[in-house]
Amino acid sequence: MALPEPREDLGLREGYHSPQVDVAVRLNTNESPLPPPPAWLDALRAEIGGIAFHRYPDRHATALREALAGLHGVRPSQIFCANGSNEVLQSLCLAYGGPGRSVAVFEPTYALHSHIAHLTGTAVAEGRRRPDFSLDLDVVSDVLSGAHPAITFVCSPNNPTGMAEDASAVRSVLAAAPGLVVVDEAYGQFADWSALSLVGDGVPLVVTRTFSKTWSMAAARLGYLVGPDPVVAALERVALPYHLDAVKQIAGRLAVEFVGEMDERVGLIVRERRRILAALGSLPVTAWPSQANFVLFRPELRKGREVWQALVDRSVLVRDASSWPGLSGCLRVTVGSPADNDAFLSALAEVLS
Ligand code: PMP
Repeated sequence: MALPEPREDLGLREGYHSPQVDVAVRLNTNESPLPPPPAWLDALRAEIGGIAFHRYPDRHATALREALAGLHGVRPSQIFCANGSNEVLQSLCLAYGGPGRSVAVFEPTYALHSHIAHLTGTAVAEGRRRPDFSLDLDVVSDVLSGAHPAITFVCSPNNPTGMAEDASAVRSVLAAAPGLVVVDEAYGQFADWSALSLVGDGVPLVVTRTFSKTWSMAAARLGYLVGPDPVVAALERVALPYHLDAVKQIAGRLAVEFVGEMDERVGLIVRERRRILAALGSLPVTAWPSQANFVLFRPELRKGREVWQALVDRSVLVRDASSWPGLSGCLRVTVGSPADNDAFLSALAEVLS
């Protein structure tokens, strides 16, 4: 007897997964360097005791969606929650993609957009960004008119390049897109402008957000989108019953009460991001401006992979993007705590000296 072969098209793009190396300074997966506020954890502990664990959780995540609706000034019926924003993206592909349909992506961008599309049997139409990684609206319009994608993904700020789109760019994509426009704002709070301001009834736009970065809750696996009610209703049809566990629903609802602390953290990260960019300016690297909690850079005198290894040897882990399409030689560093960033900058200076 032999085990059956799984689908051949399941492999994730070579080099995407970040190795989990045991180091002192981890700046590879764009998490928050700080844990959530202690008062949030106290409140969570207090509420966990009241969960009826023998019962399924609230299937509609009513309280969580009400809290998020309050945060964004929309109706709860405009919010869809899932296990990380990756699951939100997967639900979008399940509901709007599938065989005979396509999505559009503009590379280099977040690898999971095309990966999830492939997993759901959705074709991927790809356009390239300009050499400075900005979105080329002529390319966007060519790709959209050629492929008629059911979903057009815009990642803003874009992972891994850091650049954010402005209102006029998103409006142009919306005007050209034949289907749904998904603005992935996993890093939205670090940017100057959000596409949330364009979401409205009858507008084919959704904005996805996550608790994994700004909210310091990557372990909770919680993400959501804001969009028109009918899109949320379609996503609820593809979500598994009771897919959001009770603890997660409480964790997310309570987090929203700590939005002030979250904003303070964003302020710290943005200041540290500026400091890192300024310091990179005096090293032999090319660094790209960022509106996210990470910075993309390319060492000019040594190979990216070698620099990555030399940093690991100094107990600093960054993301090796050097084999990703369009990013030859590039590394991406997450903005960490001031001490983490000092450790990164001095290790990098030593490696490049
Ligand atoms: N979108 C982007 C652009 C990301 O970088 C990430 C995290 N790597 C995600 C979505 C997914 O985040 P999560 O599933 O943790 O919410």
